Amino acid sequence: MLTLPEALAAILARIRPAATVDNAPLAHAHGRFAARRLVAQVDNPAFDNSAMDGYALAQHDLTVHDFVLPVVGESSCGSRPQTLQPGTAMRIFTGAPLPAGADTVVMQEDVVPEAGRMRFPRETRTGNQVRRRGEDFHAGDTLYEPGRRLSAYDLALLSAAGVAQLPVWARPRVLVVATGNELVAPGEALAPGQIYESNRLATLLQLEALGADVVDGGTVRDDPQTLRALLAASPDFDFIITSGGASVGDHDLVKQVFAEIGEISFWKAKIKPGKPVAFGRVGERAHFFALPGNPVSSLVTFKLFVEPALYAWHHGQAPALELSATASNDFRRAPGRMEFLRARLWSANGEMRAEALKGQGSHMLGPIRDTNGFIRVAAESSGFTAGERVTVLPLA
Ligand code: AMP
Ligand code: MG
Repeated sequence: MLTLPEALAAILARIRPAATVDNAPLAHAHGRFAARRLVAQVDNPAFDNSAMDGYALAQHDLTVHDFVLPVVGESSCGSRPQTLQPGTAMRIFTGAPLPAGADTVVMQEDVVPEAGRMRFPRETRTGNQVRRRGEDFHAGDTLYEPGRRLSAYDLALLSAAGVAQLPVWARPRVLVVATGNELVAPGEALAPGQIYESNRLATLLQLEALGADVVDGGTVRDDPQTLRALLAASPDFDFIITSGGASVGDHDLVKQVFAEIGEISFWKAKIKPGKPVAFGRVGERAHFFALPGNPVSSLVTFKLFVEPALYAWHHGQAPALELSATASNDFRRAPGRMEFLRARLWSANGEMRAEALKGQGSHMLGPIRDTNGFIRVAAESSGFTAGERVTVLPLA
């Protein structure tokens, strides 16, 4: 049984990363992964300009004319750069080009009219309120390395840098299949012994949110032949993700099928929940994850394994934010596996607090309502008491 770091290392070592590049316009690149270095096309700022509404001038003129200057001309946003007449100030607005000959801007609130001219403060410093060309970045600077997942903020930066289209990795094609004789779709009537299926939709939606091109393979019965036939009829996937049937029960068919058609890298991880989780490859292209059927195990193993695998497939690295928090309640347990507790995180007096929610059974979905993170309990730990420091993984 592999520990979490060992299982992650095994996954990263076996991923065959994306090779196909799409050319995406900016507006379609949100959440996608850069496939090449992304380089600024222009300097930012593109020219020296004013940081304030006020007056552009040469500091030297202030000392010569005892801080009183006439105002001649105006520089507004979008106007061509002009030239300052020596011995004068020019009206200027935020973002407007600094006129040639000026080196300083004084904000309008600091200026006092005096006999048709303006009096400027004595403490005016050279270079005040001037945004210098290229002080943010220069044309040719690398803004992003390959594998970077692009947020709305990133696309704002790329817009400012004059990038219109960019190379991103093609979306991974992902097949999602649930297994279980007991599973029924919500909306249908439940016969005795049946339950509503809940893992597939969450898996599909999380994959979509990560930019995958998902295919819903539906729910199959616990019959190896059916699963084998479905997978045989589903070529051209980068990932196949199954739910359930991955442990050691008599009806656990997934292991058997993947062992036949592919190569299994590992079958169990030393974590709780989510011990019966498997990873491997089918052929040269498809990676598979057999996620556990228990709904909470399914969510946790998606987060711990599938998400990092998808980032790795895109030549990137999943963001892994771990913080320290103060436990607000006690949690006792027998040491053994690394455990992930559904938790409610909040801040009080500038400090992060974490509550281990009641009902940690891997079949219990109710506490999901209040879950905005996990508390990670080390394998050798026997729990914690209120007031102790714990490690947390925020979800949002
Ligand atoms: P399994 O991993 O197939 O042994 O299933 C473990 C537990 O999770 C059983 O109680 C199943 O009924 C339940 N389960 C399996 N798949 C799903 C699913 N897709 N949605 C909800 N519960 C499931
Ligand atoms: Mg099952």
